[in-house]
Amino acid sequence: MRKLVKKVSGVQIPIKPLEINVFYWKVKEGHEGDFAIGGDFPTFSSHGGLHVFGTPSLEYPGLVKVVVEAGDTCDPDKREWGPGAKVEELKEWIKKSFNGFVEWREPVMKQACMYSMTPDHDYVVDFLGGHFGKDVVVGGGFSGHGFKMAPVIGRVLAELAVDGVPSGQIDIKPFGIGRFNNSPK
Ligand SMILES: Cc1cc2nc3c(=O)[nH]c(=O)nc-3n(C[C@H](O)[C@H](O)[C@H](O)COP(=O)(O)OP(=O)(O)OC[C@H]3O[C@@H](n4cnc5c(N)ncnc54)[C@H](O)[C@@H]3O)c2cc1C
Repeated sequence: MRKLVKKVSGVQIPIKPLEINVFYWKVKEGHEGDFAIGGDFPTFSSHGGLHVFGTPSLEYPGLVKVVVEAGDTCDPDKREWGPGAKVEELKEWIKKSFNGFVEWREPVMKQACMYSMTPDHDYVVDFLGGHFGKDVVVGGGFSGHGFKMAPVIGRVLAELAVDGVPSGQIDIKPFGIGRFNNSPK
């Protein structure tokens, strides 16, 4: 988004792409049920020294998703597909936190994806402005938490494009494209 917006309009949005690695870990034999969805194991987010989140086993039976909320800066067009940030710390965290019921030495599976981080971790939802005025609508920079808002963001973007204003009580000012102009960090 940063490159596209800059190319078409010259506007610089200080979005930082981060490569985030999602890991799945093997639950030790006999304990699969303890970590399965529908049981007691929660979806969790742990904000101690290391920010770790995870979900019960669902998409891959016998594997549990445990991820560290940290990434390396990347160029989306020349991805390095690195090992992931703070993986060794994550292993120690799993070892310490799951009473030995999860194989912590190596993950079974890794999925590399990206966050597009804005400086305040909030979205950019606005008209492009400048030469383009209200003819172009921009939505992006969802900073790792855009999925849950997809229905309302989709509606707002469509209404901005068609009607020029969002319906209801939605105030999009906090998501303005120009809010970083005087304070890009
Ligand atoms: C590991 C991880 C965990 C996450 N967890 C959560 C969570 O728990 N809750 C939450 O709310 N959000 C979460 N998110 C964030 C959420 O997934 C994103 O904020 C959201 O998907 C962004 O939506 P988007 O439509 O802007 O971008 P994307 O979903 O990235 O969609 C962009 C689309 O554009 C396409 N595209 C790219 N370039 C081009 C091109 N040149 N031409 C045509 N098409 C192109 C891509 O293929 C893609 O389909 C998570 C993200 C990651 C990576």
